[in-house]
Amino acid sequence: MSETTSHDSVGATAGTDYDAIIVGAGFSGLYELHRLRDELGLSVKVIEKADDVGGTWYWNRYPGARCDSESHIYCYSFNEDILQNWEWSERYPEQPEVLEYLRFAADELDLRRNIEFETEVTSAAFDEDSGTWRISTDDGETVSSQFFVTAVGCLSEPYIPDFEGIESFEGFWTHTGKWPHEPVDFEGKRVAVIGTGATGIQVIPEVAKSDPEHLTVFQRTPNYAVPARNRPLDDDDWELIQSNYDEILQRAHDSGFGFPFEVGQETAADMTMEEVEEALEPRWQEGGFRFLLAFEDLLVNEETNEKVSEFLRGKIRETVDDPELAEKLAPKDHYYATKRPPLHTDYYETYNRDNVSLVDVTENPIERITPDGVQTADGHHDFDMIIYATGFDAMTGTLLQIDIEGRDGLTLEEKWEDGPQTYLGLTLHGFPNMFTITGPQSPSVLSNMPVSIEHHVEWVSDTIEHLVDNDIQLIEPTKAAEEAWTTHNRQVAESTLYTTVDSWYMNENIPDKPTVFTPYPGGVDLYHDTILEVAEKGYEGFELTESVQQLGQEGEQPQLSVMKGD
Ligand code: FAD
Ligand code: NAP
Repeated sequence: MSETTSHDSVGATAGTDYDAIIVGAGFSGLYELHRLRDELGLSVKVIEKADDVGGTWYWNRYPGARCDSESHIYCYSFNEDILQNWEWSERYPEQPEVLEYLRFAADELDLRRNIEFETEVTSAAFDEDSGTWRISTDDGETVSSQFFVTAVGCLSEPYIPDFEGIESFEGFWTHTGKWPHEPVDFEGKRVAVIGTGATGIQVIPEVAKSDPEHLTVFQRTPNYAVPARNRPLDDDDWELIQSNYDEILQRAHDSGFGFPFEVGQETAADMTMEEVEEALEPRWQEGGFRFLLAFEDLLVNEETNEKVSEFLRGKIRETVDDPELAEKLAPKDHYYATKRPPLHTDYYETYNRDNVSLVDVTENPIERITPDGVQTADGHHDFDMIIYATGFDAMTGTLLQIDIEGRDGLTLEEKWEDGPQTYLGLTLHGFPNMFTITGPQSPSVLSNMPVSIEHHVEWVSDTIEHLVDNDIQLIEPTKAAEEAWTTHNRQVAESTLYTTVDSWYMNENIPDKPTVFTPYPGGVDLYHDTILEVAEKGYEGFELTESVQQLGQEGEQPQLSVMKGD
């Protein structure tokens, strides 16, 4: 492992290699490095398994990979130079542009010199005698640090179902999240895409347009997608954005989903369908996630949601020429946005092409993958290429890939056997000085993520600064605080419609994972207030330990005052 430049350390426990080790160099890890190194003056190392920065935008290079967040709000807000010197070319940036943006940010902030690329963290263990973390990597090295920050991403562990015979396929096959760096040619090929989530909905139209002999889509659950209505951004757009940038970003940071859009009306429950259409049509025409915010009670009121869902089904029926196919594509088994709602560009229109067909795997299940295609219950489908758009072991999967051991030999895998337990989605009882950026039980994937990432990175940095300034060696949430947060997360989730459907939010996409709602659904704004209040109240719910000798001696547990909306 090569040496990175080390700054004068203000907080290192004697004998550690670094004050802080961060895993991951995506949006989260890059900003965390900047805060800890450049603002606190700590010695920091980032370990990243890819050979470049970018995270999601490094890995997901499939055709059509594009942001669903609008470009001007899918960015860092903390640095005026980065904000003013980067001009996005389109309303929604394509993968190469986001990757280029993150490379630009890394270079502007001179971050690369503290990043160890092409190195995977395989284990991390808390050493109780010294109160420090020992972090091991796939090149056989071990380094130590006082603070251990995971910035490993919520959607970075690709998942391919365990179909029999996968490896036997003799054509080209890949998961979208591991897309090759070289161009892939579909012309004249028989292509299968398995999966119709946000990724499938982006890749399917692009493959269809690339002159394949035939594209077959394997759909298990149809999805409701709203048009993105992407377009180039011109000088006038930029002038408007830049002259109001601070206000736009502030609105995003103060909102429920991290978007600066106006919420429409309170409810559609007592509206006629004509009134609902009148309210939704302008948002539909405008495109994007404004549609999601037409009615405030969309995710808690079945009557409102059913009307919005029916509006969307109507749009699918209007677009798809074959009525039978339109019915297969129109979801009826779940409410809109209870699964992550995708945006689309020509997705439904794609099914009007002669060279595209759909296999509904609920009627005609995939039995196995063969050397030359896919065997379903009703016969064999021959393919040259198979694209798995089958999602991720989300939220907890990447963390659990690392063998993490806290106090008393407790592993993360054991701790989370029945689902994640955290305090605030940021810290774990039994794992002192470990912080999880966009961890489970934080808003993360239920938001425009750069907003949630900034909230987390800033909270972690401020917390570490507090510890350093006050000569506190360790921070660890109490068991009671963690239990209360886990219960709160569950109760808020149960008050919504999210828990009415199997989804990756519920861990349901991975066999044998416990069914539990994983992100925090209480809203970015409320959540952010909560974590700030915890800090203001002297880190309510945490044990702050001046020296390692006092570790694990829990005092009396006060009732937490910061959880609202139970
Ligand atoms: P990531 O970008 O996932 O980065 C984590 C990094 O950690 C990766 O580089 C990974 O290689 C590294 N890593 C993981 N484990 C290890 C290990 N053990 N050792 C070393 N390195 C490790 N969010 C939005 O808000 N809007 C969008 O429009 C949007 N579009 C998306 C499109 C796609 C295709 C996907 C998959 C996700 C999208 N997201 C979107 C979510 C996106 O993941 C976040 O917006 C954001 O990029 C996450 O940044 P991150 O740094 O937290 O994680
Ligand atoms: P996903 O939403 O989990 O979708 C996976 C798809 O594969 C689903 O249609 C799923 O069907 C199907 N599938 C899984 N196992 C299957 C099996 N055994 N047989 C048949 N079909 C199977 O994954 P994703 O589309 O990659 O998206 C994951 C998340 O990444 C998104 O929700 C979003 O947060 C993010 N993302 C964002 C963007 C963007 O913003 N631009 C783009 C892509 C991804 P079921 O629904 O029945 O499980």
